[in-house]
Parts: sequence; structure tokens; C-alpha cells
Amino acid sequence: MVITLKPGTTEKGIQHVLDKIKELGFTPHVSKGAERTIIGVIGENAIRSREIFEAMFIVESVMPISQPYKLVSRGFKSEDTVVKVENVEIGGKEVVVMAGPCAVESRAQLLKVAQEVKEAGARILRGGAFKPRTSPYSFQGLGEEGLKYLAEASEITHLPVVTEARDVRQVELVARYAHIVQVGARNMQNFDLLKEVGRGKKPVLLKRGMSSTVKEFLMSAEYILSSGNYNVILCERGIRTFEDGTRFTLDLSAVSLIKQLSHLPVIVDPSHATGNRDLIGPMSRAAIAAGSDGLMIEVHSRPEEALSDGFQSIRPDDFRKVMAEVRSVARVLGRKG
Ligand code: PEP
Ligand code: MN
Repeated sequence: MVITLKPGTTEKGIQHVLDKIKELGFTPHVSKGAERTIIGVIGENAIRSREIFEAMFIVESVMPISQPYKLVSRGFKSEDTVVKVENVEIGGKEVVVMAGPCAVESRAQLLKVAQEVKEAGARILRGGAFKPRTSPYSFQGLGEEGLKYLAEASEITHLPVVTEARDVRQVELVARYAHIVQVGARNMQNFDLLKEVGRGKKPVLLKRGMSSTVKEFLMSAEYILSSGNYNVILCERGIRTFEDGTRFTLDLSAVSLIKQLSHLPVIVDPSHATGNRDLIGPMSRAAIAAGSDGLMIEVHSRPEEALSDGFQSIRPDDFRKVMAEVRSVARVLGRKG
């Protein structure tokens, strides 16, 4: 359930409610808005204690949350969550583009493309150091060496970095170098990994599992928030359908639906969704029109030589064109491109 406190409630008043929640054996989650403080109460049958809180004079209302996901729901928090990463705000007015290669392949490759995406207007650098590959014989990523190159590229370009932790054992290492920890589609329901990034302090980019419903996606985000980390960015990256003309099927309705159901920022990855570089421009424009807060795009200086996902990677000059189109759509919608 959600307890909304009256405007102007003091810290002492808030603490009094928190103490009561804990005394009853529930876990409180506090969200301080511009005017009101809202407290989510998580625990089995918490709603049965509704009257105890309704009787408190500092309490404005007590509402049950009907969805299975609580902390990620609009019912818990009506304003959009803005995730701040250094000087970048994801979920605010600006449409934020994350770009870079599928995988970090070498220092030279990364530093070059990092500069190129920066000049084109990307706000965050992406690049995998631990790659989830279908085949064990494919390039698996450079591991910590790759993380070091990402940190160096970030220092040079001043772009924050997002990169994937594929396993619980990699989270601490990845968080040491990256500004945002990515949980990949194949790990969306790796609950131990979700709890581990939830216990961390770094913002998390959670990608939708390729065979997951929107409800399951939000439940996975709930794992991260309920572990204490509220800085979660959701990423729609295509789902499996019978359609085989594209690598996956980009589910753009999910973007608009999630914006209704949740306060968390949502971005779209047209690269993995389509697996076709010619569709990156149109799907990027469509994503922004559907309400996406940003994009994640694979860019490679020489896609024909890429060690992974070259077929869907675009060159820096094409990325510049996509950025110009995205900015135009963003402006029409009253957003900053
Ligand atoms: C990626 O972004 O590097 C990636 C592997 O994507 P996904 O987890 O969506 O397949
Ligand atoms: Mn890729």
C-alpha cells in the first residue's frame, strides 16, 4: 500500500510513520516529492494495517496498489523518475542517446568511435566488455581490459559509460568502471543478478527479455527497486514473434504502455530489435514519437570488421543523420533533442 503524508510533514513525523511500519514487520520505501512525501509499504497483507496509518493526523491517504509491481508503478509515484548520471538526465525533457560499439574490441577502436559518437551528439557511451554470446566460440569480450578502455574513453570524451554485467560476480568490477550497469535481455529474470545490482549504488539499465511480457519486465525492475536502488532505466529491445524479417520485433506499444504503468524512464534499442542497420533511422524516429526517453544505438567506425553485430551497426556518418532526425522529432514533441 501507499501512504501519502500531508504537505509540510516534518522529518520527525516521517520517522514516526517509518518506525511504525518497521514495528509491524513491513519494509518502507520513501519517495520525497516536491510537495508530499509518499511511503510505500511492502509486505504480505500490509493493507490489513491500513487503519493504523489512516488514524495518524499527518497521513493524508492510504491506498492499496492493485498491480503485482508496487514501487515501479505510477500508483506509488505519479511524477516521472529522472535518473541522473553525471551531467545527463534520463527521463527528463531531453531525449538521451546512448551510442557506441556492440563490443569493446581494442583501445584504438573504442577511443575513435567514442569521439565520433560524442561529436554527433550522443550523451552516453555504450560498449560491451562482457558479451552474452549465443555461441561459446564467438568473441566473449575483453573483460576488465575492456572496462579500462571504457573508463579512459569516458575521461577523454566526458561521456558517462554504460556496460553490461553478465553475472553476479561481475557486478562490483563493472560498477567500479561504469556509470550505468546494464542487465542484458538474457538476464532479465536472473533474480540474483537483479538483487545484486539493486543493492548497488550505480544506476541500472534493464533490458527487456526477448520472451517477456511487460508485466514480467516491470516485476524484474521491482526486484531492483525493492533491493534499494531506485535508479532504473528500462530498455525495450525487441521480442520474439513469428516474424523473421527482422532479428526481433520491436514492441513500440510497450513503450507507451510502460509510460502509463510506471514512472521509470524508458529507452529503445533499435539495433538489437531489428538487426538491420537500414531500420535504425525509422525505428529511432518512431520510438521518440511513441514517448521513449532515449535510444541505445550500436555504432562502429568499420562495421564490416566488427567482432560482433556488425550487420546492425551503423557508421558514424549515418549516426549523425539519425541524430539530426531524432532531434527534429524531439523538438516537434516539445522535447530537447
Ligand atoms: C547489448 O546491448 O550489448 C546486448 C547484448 O543487448 P541485449 O541484451 O538486448 O541482447
Ligand atoms: Mn550487440
